[in-house]
Amino acid sequence: MSYAPTSREQENTGFRCAHCGREVPAHPGGSYRNHCPYCLWSVHVDIAPGDRAADCQAPMRPEAVDHSGKKGYILIHRCTVCGAVDRNKLAPDDDLDVLISLQRPA
Ligand SMILES: [Zn+2]
Ligand SMILES: [Zn+2]
Repeated sequence: MSYAPTSREQENTGFRCAHCGREVPAHPGGSYRNHCPYCLWSVHVDIAPGDRAADCQAPMRPEAVDHSGKKGYILIHRCTVCGAVDRNKLAPDDDLDVLISLQRPA
């Protein structure tokens, strides 16, 4: 069986966050980096995770943290322009203080 790299692996590069302006390094686990680990904002570039198929390009605000038994903690983003909602796994270096501030009392 041959091994071909997926588009997700090709997308594991650093970028400058459009919201806080900090330089974001590539994902430490080699996974696809979806959002800024400092402010947790994202950018609306995907229709399906990692596909870079959206034309919107607007900032996506981190709205809430959800927990899924299989995937662990999930960060929910909403696009500030078109209102699209995205669910993303946390990265190991995401800022816990920012995450906790998103948690709403039940
Ligand atoms: Zn940021
Ligand atoms: Zn959008």
